[in-house]
Amino acid sequence: MRDLILDYQIKSRSLEPELDVRRFLIDQMIRYSEEFLETISDRRAYDVPVESAQGDTLIGQVESLEDMLSYLRNKVDKNGINPASPGHLGYVPGGGIFTAAIGDFLAAVTNRYSGLKFANPGAVHIENELIEWSRSIIGYPDTALGNISSGGSIANLIAITCARDKMKIKGEKIYKSTIYLTQQTHHCIQKAIRIAGLEDCPVRTVALDEHYRMDTENLRYWINKDQKAGLQPFLIIASCGSTDTGAIDPLERIGGIAQQSGAWYHIDAAYGGYFCLCGEMREKLIGMDSSDSIVMDPHKTLFLPYGSGVVIIKEGKYLFDSFHYTANYLQDANPGTQNISPADLSPELTKHFRGLRMWIPLKLHGTEVFQSALYEKHLLTKYFYEQIQKLGFEVGPPPDLSICIYRYVPKNGRANEFNTLLVKMIQEDGRVFVSSTTLDQKYWIRIAVVCFRTHLKTIDLYISIIKEKLSQVEESMN
Ligand SMILES: *Cc1c(COP(=O)(O)O)cnc(C)c1O
Repeated sequence: MRDLILDYQIKSRSLEPELDVRRFLIDQMIRYSEEFLETISDRRAYDVPVESAQGDTLIGQVESLEDMLSYLRNKVDKNGINPASPGHLGYVPGGGIFTAAIGDFLAAVTNRYSGLKFANPGAVHIENELIEWSRSIIGYPDTALGNISSGGSIANLIAITCARDKMKIKGEKIYKSTIYLTQQTHHCIQKAIRIAGLEDCPVRTVALDEHYRMDTENLRYWINKDQKAGLQPFLIIASCGSTDTGAIDPLERIGGIAQQSGAWYHIDAAYGGYFCLCGEMREKLIGMDSSDSIVMDPHKTLFLPYGSGVVIIKEGKYLFDSFHYTANYLQDANPGTQNISPADLSPELTKHFRGLRMWIPLKLHGTEVFQSALYEKHLLTKYFYEQIQKLGFEVGPPPDLSICIYRYVPKNGRANEFNTLLVKMIQEDGRVFVSSTTLDQKYWIRIAVVCFRTHLKTIDLYISIIKEKLSQVEESMN
């Protein structure tokens, strides 16, 4: 028996590489990441996606790290959208600041358990501190509690679940509890409503004003109508930075209406939330603190790698009530509100120690650099908004944050066709990546300046690309 055990120990020993092997592997990893970072400005923002061949990544076949890095180099890091590129101006770009990688590396190596306070008070303290900081910059009181989730979708699901439980929306009540949102509400909210078992709640799509913001008169109209019909306003969802146009709903006015009606007020600020770091922009964000819950994504506007969302509930006890459970095998975990852990505030138990990738950059760089970078993105978008009009483009509303929409209306009037072709050509060129949307049956091109590497020279490059492609599209359509 002992011999057999020792035999298996020897057979599995490569799971614990020795110092020289570790150094060899780390050296290859560092060289790969250096090669990536040193060439990032020259890399394409978009490569037309190519499917991998079957067998390329077969599990069960031992390969060297070098071979795997070669797969990454050719099949992953030169394929589709490059979110790390300064030229990524589509959707809501991501970040991936280098110092966050140090947090991820250490979190994986030390594998501290950050789900429960008794398992690691230090790790939980870091995550609590990050929530505490996030709640303080949006102006929530210290009754707030929150969670670092894997992203905005899960963060929104957590907030909606909490609202459901606080408002006791179940059984017959579901059919009489109304939800208010707009056409510009992110689709993950619809998903969350369904996952939370609320798809039979009457949902009102509140009208938009000419800036694609929620029309609060229309919200009032719906609420009055519903109340007269014996329905109960349950949930109002505002967007702080919509995906299509970056519009901020009138947060404060909606807060007032929510309070009068008794509805739970949720703000989806996945994209716009951390812009509150910019003092210059705070006026636009007044009323964030009038909500009951809010979501903001550090993997967007704090430039962290993907997999980082934040949800905060103003009266934190409701979040605890919604997600706290006990189990016999957790009897050593000192339950009680004095010892609140991430596992008490989210569906997760064992989880990635995400806080480390947020804590290290915030502490290492300070918060002011994030403020400067965000304000730069806002100004770059305003600059672009001016320049694109000089090229004869029609534009949507002035940018609230760092997204705007524009389209070219050619003399022949076939604008949708023209702009579709223009986007296709820009994407095929690949130096920058932009995406499009449709509003009121019009095809609009978007620009979203969120990648921390996007600077003035990227925007100037994009403008020169547009000039170049504009004449090509004109030629090909004639
Ligand atoms: C990105 C985004 C989401 C979804 O968040 P994920 O992190 O992609 O899951 C939700 N709402 C808004 C407004 C967003 O910008």
